[in-house]
Amino acid sequence: MANERDFSKVQVLVVGAGPAGLATAIQLKKIKPQIEVCVIDKALDLGNHNLSGAVLEAEPLHSLLDAAVPGWSETDMAKQVLANKIDKDDIMFLLGNKLAFNIFWAIHLAKTIHIGFGQMIHKGDYSVSISKLTKWMGQIAKSTGVEVLTGFAAEDIILDGTSGMAIGVKLVDQGLDKEGHKQSNYAPGEVIGADFIVLAEGCDGLVTENFIQKANLQRESNQLYSVGVKELIKVSPEQYNKFTASRVVHAMGHPIWTPVIGPGMFGGGIVYAGEQDHLSVGMIVGADWKYYNFNPQDALVRFKEHAFVKQFIDGGTVVEAGAKMIPEGGYHAIPREPQTGSIGKGNVMILGDSAGFVNMLKIKGLHNAIDSGIQAAKAIADSIDMPEAAAAKYTELVENSNIMKEMKSARNFRQTVAKFGPLQGMPLSILGELLPKFHVEKDYEAMTTAPYRLKPDQSFDKDTFTAVAATAHREEQPSHLKILDSNICKIKCTPVFDSPCITFCPAGVYETIHDQVKPANPSNCLHCKTCQRKCPFDNIRWTAPEGGGGPRYKRM
Ligand code: SF4
Ligand code: SF4
Repeated sequence: MANERDFSKVQVLVVGAGPAGLATAIQLKKIKPQIEVCVIDKALDLGNHNLSGAVLEAEPLHSLLDAAVPGWSETDMAKQVLANKIDKDDIMFLLGNKLAFNIFWAIHLAKTIHIGFGQMIHKGDYSVSISKLTKWMGQIAKSTGVEVLTGFAAEDIILDGTSGMAIGVKLVDQGLDKEGHKQSNYAPGEVIGADFIVLAEGCDGLVTENFIQKANLQRESNQLYSVGVKELIKVSPEQYNKFTASRVVHAMGHPIWTPVIGPGMFGGGIVYAGEQDHLSVGMIVGADWKYYNFNPQDALVRFKEHAFVKQFIDGGTVVEAGAKMIPEGGYHAIPREPQTGSIGKGNVMILGDSAGFVNMLKIKGLHNAIDSGIQAAKAIADSIDMPEAAAAKYTELVENSNIMKEMKSARNFRQTVAKFGPLQGMPLSILGELLPKFHVEKDYEAMTTAPYRLKPDQSFDKDTFTAVAATAHREEQPSHLKILDSNICKIKCTPVFDSPCITFCPAGVYETIHDQVKPANPSNCLHCKTCQRKCPFDNIRWTAPEGGGGPRYKRM
């Protein structure tokens, strides 16, 4: 915050220094070098809050950098970030904890006969660390004159009461104690005014969701989420060489879905090659799971115990870990202005995961995030004297881009699986665009009293998980996790569902203290937002803590 320059007003304010927001900044500086672009992010340092699969389909990144950074592909950072080009693409079906069948042939067949599943091919893509990718893009943005400010947490967007146009973004107050009293270092969160505001906060962004409400944007269908937990494991050189640096594994089946006899959840496991002698192992589970005592980390334990996975990681050391949500609702869940269909409104544009541009047939969204950043930059450049036209221009460009082509092709997939479950929904989804749009309930409404049958014998070690995520917040600040009504916990939730937030929070934030469920350890929070989307009574709100708090991912 101790910056010499005055940021009370900028031309373009980007909220979120992820791939989408940084792509906007880089592209915009290329088109209009004189334009003033400021990117703010709540993380302490670039890349600290970026975690994903991550398989990168590189065309949008190439087109961005080819235009903006001559010779980029020869730089050390480019070689490091894009070191692992995929040429072995395994899609496994796991049965029990020993059997594994490679069903890549079925995906290949689907591609040949133009069925949606055929998009799930990753050959030619890159397995990357999104954290490193973000850091690199941030450095490029800075080198082109973009102001990239980390440790700046935004909490709200300010609209003009008369015109409805956005005036600026309000930052979080600093220097309150746990009870909300001002300390000697108190500094009220300033408002950064801007002509254009780009919301690129990632999944379930706080400012984005506030804006959606304030500007009365609508989603045709409820947004659906999945929760991903991931570990970066240092393995032996022999294990790494056996896996190979150019391989990715996506696995369905055990331990989250077993046909007919259950459990029946959407999602699966991943194993990607990381930097030398490191493998990323993760589990991604649709947040519409129904088991009250389920935690994606339990499924990750079972996945790692499976013979197929174990051979590559046995004896390895977890060196980094993290959790995040992924927006899966697809085309029907894109927030739009009802009258115009704009993905944003006036001078505000919504990008990447904040808009929900994840193609669930590809299980990828990073390329769309970068592409949406490019389109936002073009829209701003095009409406430089008419900021109120930016969202409409941006939407027009996105509609005509590959983003929307993909989103439309995958539009009914996730809803069909949510509606009918994996057993019927997956085969039914072959009908693709011929299917109608099914109404789906919100993820938290799916909770039941059914138990998850494959719970590991030992409870997951969340302390070690959060320690390697290196998450930290200033202890003396109000909790940024709010339970709206503790009576609901006591009377409705605990007796029926046994307080599931205690189980599913990957960081062990929630505890029962004197018979009351509380966010007892807010400084452990990984900012994944799972609690605000999975509490069965919609009784939790995630608010922004002071800037600089949260996980400190470096290699995820
Ligand atoms: Fe249940 Fe939500 Fe209360 Fe946790 S916060 S006990 S999940 S109602
Ligand atoms: Fe995620 Fe909520 Fe737990 Fe924080 S408190 S780690 S946002 S589930």
